[in-house]
Amino acid sequence: AYIIAEPCVGVCDTACVQVCPVNCIYGPEGYDVTNEEHLKEMREKKMQLYIHPQECIDCGACQPECPVEAIFPEAEVPEKWQQYIRINYERFGL
Ligand code: SF4
Repeated sequence: AYIIAEPCVGVCDTACVQVCPVNCIYGPEGYDVTNEEHLKEMREKKMQLYIHPQECIDCGACQPECPVEAIFPEAEVPEKWQQYIRINYERFGL
């Protein structure tokens, strides 16, 4: 699966959401990433987007779209952001 790391925090650009063919990129529980009001709140509260590890088909389409380079294949997440692997899984109770 692909993982969203720290650069997304407080940014939540959603360019990735626009290109994901399986719609597996989500906000925190209760937030709708297609709702501008929700996105505004997510940015103010320093929230991030998450990729559902079981829904992601590893197509890679999202990675080049991210303006802050927050997206990585799970095996290529930089050392300093390794905890985001767990953070993405935990978002979905995994
Ligand atoms: Fe969606 Fe493809 Fe990115 Fe996975 S790799 S989150 S399927 S765009």
